[in-house]
Amino acid sequence: MVDILSMELDELQLFMKDIGESAFRAKQVYDWLHRKLVTDFDEMTNLSKALREKLKEMSKIQSVEIVDKLVSKADGTTKYLFVLDNDSIIESVLMRYSFGNAVCVSTQAGCRMGCTFCASTINGVECSLTAGEILSQVYAIQRDTGERVSNVVLMGSGEPLDNYDNVIRFIRILNSKEGLDIGQRHITLSTCGLTEKMKELALLKLQITLAVSLHAPNDEIRNTIMPISRKYDFETLLDACRFYTEKTNRRITFEYSLIKGVNDSLSCAEELAARLKGMLCHVNLIPVNDVKERNYVKSGVKTIEQFASVLSSRGIETTIRRELGSDINAACGQLRKGYMEGRR
Ligand code: SAH
Repeated sequence: MVDILSMELDELQLFMKDIGESAFRAKQVYDWLHRKLVTDFDEMTNLSKALREKLKEMSKIQSVEIVDKLVSKADGTTKYLFVLDNDSIIESVLMRYSFGNAVCVSTQAGCRMGCTFCASTINGVECSLTAGEILSQVYAIQRDTGERVSNVVLMGSGEPLDNYDNVIRFIRILNSKEGLDIGQRHITLSTCGLTEKMKELALLKLQITLAVSLHAPNDEIRNTIMPISRKYDFETLLDACRFYTEKTNRRITFEYSLIKGVNDSLSCAEELAARLKGMLCHVNLIPVNDVKERNYVKSGVKTIEQFASVLSSRGIETTIRRELGSDINAACGQLRKGYMEGRR
């Protein structure tokens, strides 16, 4: 079966040509899939019955099904639990901002990066998602709410650069004029720091935002919480970031989750400021979501503010992330984990 939802328009045109159909028909099919967001060939009413049957025989529209949905009373943040065709469970989050609706998508079921503070990685990776399965999360949420999705962040479960080809394909389709046409600057890809892939991405010169999960000011601390740090050390990572900026002119966002007593001292802040000096970057401080299994607790409000002011006073642009959906376990793989434990 052909995975038709994962095809870029030119590929769909070739495929349709192969089965004796015109480029115009391919455009119609693409429009149904990526703009009208249908999940069934029978809904493609401007195609002949014969063509619909032919497409059904040869291809499959991959989709994700909603198995659960939690809406935050506090801020309208909605967490979706989806099941894939292979029965794997993933989660996505809809966040409502003044500038529009942002969706956080998963790129893998589980993750193999092993960051000690992250719930997605506890049972390793189950599978990498196809481009269609990643798109399908955005499409299902837009259908469910009836509201346009304006921003997409690749920050759900999984390491996007560990599923590079499918993720790039996803971005291209999402960004296509004939699809949802979400601007590259409205797409953020977050990575734990696979430096070779970061450089490959830089060469594509996309205008997406690259977020890098840093969470420490040096190798010593980073090694203890992020295993990937032993493969690509701090300086190698910063080099890849500089290369990214050089090629794309884009500012890097560094994510830094503050864990009490682990990476939140003022000397950590000083060291971080020194390391990042001169880079085109921005630091986003995130109070870590408590992980019971690891005894990690978020830093206090005062600590976070002091950490931020050290960075700011050293000329590093810094923000503190507002916590959304804290009443619905919206954070970082927690809903999926709870569901999986229930299922076992
Ligand atoms: N694998 C990618 C994207 C998924 S995680 C990456 O590592 O960037 C998205 C962000 O959430 C990352 O910055 C990750 O480090 C962070 N994160 C994971 N678990 C967290 C937790 N318990 N508290 C705060 N941030 C967490």
